[in-house]
Amino acid sequence: MGPDSYYDILGVPRGADDKEIRKAYRDLARKYHPDVCKEPGAEERFKGINEAYSVLSDPQKRAQYDQMGHDAYSNASRGSYSGGGGFSGGFNADFSGFGDIFETFFGGGGARQRAGPRPGADLLMKMRITLEEAAFGTEKEVGLDHVEPCPACDGSGSETKKFTTCPTCGGSGQMRQMSQSMFGSFVRMAPCTACGGRGKIPESRCKTCGGSGHRRGRQTVKVRIPPGVDTGMRLRMEGYGDAGEYGAPAGDLYIEISVAQHRTFSRRGDDLETTVDITPAQAVLGSEVEVKTIDGRTIVLDIPAGVQHNTGLKIAGEGVRWQTKPGDMLVRVQIVVPTRLTDEARELYGRLLEMEGKKPSAKKASKGFFQDVVDKVKETVK
Ligand SMILES: [Zn+2]
Ligand SMILES: [Zn+2]
Repeated sequence: MGPDSYYDILGVPRGADDKEIRKAYRDLARKYHPDVCKEPGAEERFKGINEAYSVLSDPQKRAQYDQMGHDAYSNASRGSYSGGGGFSGGFNADFSGFGDIFETFFGGGGARQRAGPRPGADLLMKMRITLEEAAFGTEKEVGLDHVEPCPACDGSGSETKKFTTCPTCGGSGQMRQMSQSMFGSFVRMAPCTACGGRGKIPESRCKTCGGSGHRRGRQTVKVRIPPGVDTGMRLRMEGYGDAGEYGAPAGDLYIEISVAQHRTFSRRGDDLETTVDITPAQAVLGSEVEVKTIDGRTIVLDIPAGVQHNTGLKIAGEGVRWQTKPGDMLVRVQIVVPTRLTDEARELYGRLLEMEGKKPSAKKASKGFFQDVVDKVKETVK
């Protein structure tokens, strides 16, 4: 697609609201739809428009996109995990579903009517995982309902597994149909309703499934979640969706990932951020502290002398393991001022204050920040 941002592709400003994005998409999709536009490159352009819309119209994906930037986002989304043993479908970003968006505009399929038996529907399942699971990958078993082939007729819908020519359409599978769309009404060919476009009907209807060839069933699916996934990404498992019409492939199962918030780590792309508390003395003189990695190991981090509050220190390679290039761990230093002091410590701080030529507070012990603020407010009100 080149380096254009999704905003450029749709021709909207970065701050565009949903309405603007939708309108821009509608206009462009109508202009570049391959059935309408015969310009060279229209199809590529149309795909790009759809891709841009699928991201910008989804608040979660859009936020992620804004944060990661175009290159990082599209690389991450396109990162393919296929070939990773035992996971037939591989992992692909999902830019399907345009069909649905498109068809709502153009009125049910338009000119592109599929011939022959229809493949099964895709299924979408949402899955919540922990940050650890997202970082290292995991395997989960899920049970879900889907449409499966009727075992009595092997999915054919026919008791004898034989068929006869459809009397309604004479075997063509097509019917003339008047259709309304936003471009006006026109006659088009539609699949025959009696045989579903197959041109044939079961010789004798299967009694178990009533001729549909399908039944509802529950399947257990082993989902391998590759390391590096993030909220909003979809895993595709080919053939795990609903069964198709006899002779057509099953749909796919999409698993949409959402990563739960972690107690100590927050995620920024592939980097993991955490905090470490140190005392003023540690900040002034530098110090060694222990920090825990996402996989529970303890690492000794050297805090340099004179470190300022909120400074981020990087531990390379301890972030999310995304393929071969892992992210980093960022440790943000928090200087915490002690509120309880031993007499000796108080004396030492007193001497420091003296050396700095500053006056100590008239109040003895600190009551905490909020208490002080309340006291001051009372004074101003008086
Ligand atoms: Zn027919
Ligand atoms: Zn059956």
